[in-house]
Amino acid sequence: MRIKLENLEGGKGDFAHVYQPEELNPVDERVNLTEPASVTGKVRLSGHQVFVNGHIDTRTRVECDRCLKPVELPVSTDFTLEYISGRDYESSEVVELTEEQMSLAVFNGEALDIDEIAKEQILLAVPTRMLCREDCKGLCPECGTDRNTGECNCITNDIDPRWAALKELR
Ligand SMILES: [Zn+2]
Ligand SMILES: [Zn+2]
Repeated sequence: MRIKLENLEGGKGDFAHVYQPEELNPVDERVNLTEPASVTGKVRLSGHQVFVNGHIDTRTRVECDRCLKPVELPVSTDFTLEYISGRDYESSEVVELTEEQMSLAVFNGEALDIDEIAKEQILLAVPTRMLCREDCKGLCPECGTDRNTGECNCITNDIDPRWAALKELR
């Protein structure tokens, strides 16, 4: 769904759409929807600025970082976005100011891509590190046994998975 700014009556408008999971999947390589995503919101033009605020409700499936087991995660998130419209969009001074807020896939100066906004916001709502449970033991690096459900006899000079993240930082 795209919203053309020139079609907004009085410079504002509402939007509401329910996306079937297959319309947005895969949201990215680790996140998929398991239920439809309901997206609602408002668009408002003020001078050269475009304000978007809205809400998304859905459910996602994300792989556990340690054991790769799928984890279901409900998403219910509000968002507020701001863009620069029309000719100002082209002008470098303004773009510089708003670079951080601006995503080219979402807004090309004339129309808003609600599909892309929905995907972006779902990804922002999913934690970058996802565990099936706080103390997930993960997979054996040698044989792949899920250490939550079984034991193996591999000898690994293994570090506690809770410290693995720290090690990666070094
Ligand atoms: Zn896990
Ligand atoms: Zn093993």
